[in-house]
Amino acid sequence: MSRVYNFSAGPSMLPLEVLETAQREMLDYNGSGQSVMEMSHRSPVYDAIIKQTEADFRELMNIPDNYKVLFLQGGASTQFAAIPLNLMKNGKADYVVSGQFSGKAFKEAKKYGDAKCIATSEDKTFSYIPEITPDMVREDADYVHVCYNNTIFGTKYPEVPNVGDAVLVADMSSCITSEPVDVTKFGVIYAGAQKNMAPAGLTVVIIREDLLGNAREDIPTMLDYKTMADNDSMYNTPPCYAIYIAGLVYKWALKNGGLEAMKERNEKKAALLYDFLDQSKLFKATADKKCRSLMNVCFVTGDAELDKKFCNEAKDAGFVNLKGHRSVGGMRASIYNAMPYEGVAALVEFMKKFEAENA
Ligand SMILES: *Cc1c(COP(=O)(O)O)cnc(C)c1O
Repeated sequence: MSRVYNFSAGPSMLPLEVLETAQREMLDYNGSGQSVMEMSHRSPVYDAIIKQTEADFRELMNIPDNYKVLFLQGGASTQFAAIPLNLMKNGKADYVVSGQFSGKAFKEAKKYGDAKCIATSEDKTFSYIPEITPDMVREDADYVHVCYNNTIFGTKYPEVPNVGDAVLVADMSSCITSEPVDVTKFGVIYAGAQKNMAPAGLTVVIIREDLLGNAREDIPTMLDYKTMADNDSMYNTPPCYAIYIAGLVYKWALKNGGLEAMKERNEKKAALLYDFLDQSKLFKATADKKCRSLMNVCFVTGDAELDKKFCNEAKDAGFVNLKGHRSVGGMRASIYNAMPYEGVAALVEFMKKFEAENA
């Protein structure tokens, strides 16, 4: 068996241990004589899986009892509509546009009410996080929406933005479980699971209970958080297998020291790469230093042809998916929880060699 170092932004690598457990349990889960893929979602054996997954996720993220955890489908992109449909009771919401996904979320919200962009970093191709102060938020806004880690541009909020008393909603698709967050500062946190938690197909929503029950009357039943909360994410068939893998990933993270330990590991990995980039004569990091992502490290050589050559040679050397998003070009190394330190160290060694040969 030969496995590459996979720097994909998502779907992305999973801990090897998790894949091995899934492999071991593939044909006969825990003496049930079935694969988790095959079992009824209403069976006691599956019920135990989803309950344990939620319990472990709550422990990992330190989620208070007055928040519901929902296991949904449709990706983070479906939440761009679900958020306004569920929360816009005054028909007003404020958006911070710090990249492509938050731009899409803003555009979707405009379909359903008075959505306003209160800050953006578009002027410098989203290379920084705009400053947000409580006075920028409209008094009667139902919520403020932010994208906490901008996967495509490699920026992250250095701290939880201060929106005063407003309800803060955050897309954390590409940074959830990468470090501790104070859940109580948020009304809703949502994330597609395929970056840092599970295979594609699962979307996780964490919502404060008092925000449930404000949905528009014409909301599709499947998008109504209350329907999903009242039915323990089992109004219909949930993404059973992805939830099972998420459960294994949460157990892996807990066993490895929880989110404090994830943060420490992730900071060490990111520092190794950024420190190299900051002294390199060939490569340059593109994100503003104050808000660099721990998860998605974006960089360029300044020469599109050389970028292409780098990606090709890296691929041949076993470092795959380093090409930047198709909308920005350059390179992006996504180094989620599952990427070991050795993977980043090996990449930096490869970059040094490439620099020596091409500078
Ligand atoms: C990947 C990503 C999305 C889109 O997720 P889908 O699950 O493909 O809909 C949205 N927001 C962020 C921050 C992402 O990284």
